[in-house]
Amino acid sequence: MAARRMPTLFLSHGSPLLAIEDSAARRFLTALGPRLPRPAAVVVFSAHHDAGRVEITSSANPRTIHDFGGFPRELYALQYRAPGAPELAVQVRELLLDADIDAALEPRRGLDHGAWIPLHLMYPAADRPVVQVSIDSARDPAWHLALGRALRPLRDSGVLLIGSGGATHNLGLYMHSAGRGEDSPPPPWVAQFNDWLATATTEGRYDDLVHYRERAPYAAENHPTPEHFLPLFATLGAAREDEHGVRLHASYDRGLLSLDDYAFGFAE
Ligand code: ZN
Repeated sequence: MAARRMPTLFLSHGSPLLAIEDSAARRFLTALGPRLPRPAAVVVFSAHHDAGRVEITSSANPRTIHDFGGFPRELYALQYRAPGAPELAVQVRELLLDADIDAALEPRRGLDHGAWIPLHLMYPAADRPVVQVSIDSARDPAWHLALGRALRPLRDSGVLLIGSGGATHNLGLYMHSAGRGEDSPPPPWVAQFNDWLATATTEGRYDDLVHYRERAPYAAENHPTPEHFLPLFATLGAAREDEHGVRLHASYDRGLLSLDDYAFGFAE
């Protein structure tokens, strides 16, 4: 039986507390896994795997990396034991090399929290094989589009491609916002960027998105560094030109981190 074409997703993973504390974003991701066609495997472009040449996890048993500090012990005790997919990793590398994108297999690298926290919620049984692919914050959105486009054919083999980052991500302000309630409304500079993103994505304005730094309101304020936004472009590249985005979930953490999630090519 031919595999069904999988959608491609951009997920905002927010704070690591997403893994253990109830929130609308957590409830959404928990419900999302069963709504999707069951993937043969998952490939995640993680904002937290930032490398100067593309790295692809190729271990058969990738370890769980707790790449964050100052959180409850419960979070460090979590292990996400999904198998790796060494053969898929080789295939990912070949597709990237065919697209003139240099890439290397990383058999010792595990899954960072950009990958395992959303997957822990979506696929708690940890029975879907996972490959993690790095981004490169020194490169521009167009390069990340090409990164995603190179892997687009995998969607037809039942592979779920996910960009994991953040729709808005001013982490410095967030860290100093402990006094803000979780449900605080966003200030205008966050809401305007987030709304622009939703409109541009759902209208398929990919050229505007690629030039978000110049065209989106308050782009630099919402993404002082680009690494959490770049996985979006890998997702956009994996989408076909006629697949407009659908915003599947919208919420904020303290009004500063948008936890919005998008899908392309998703029909229920
Ligand atoms: Zn992050």
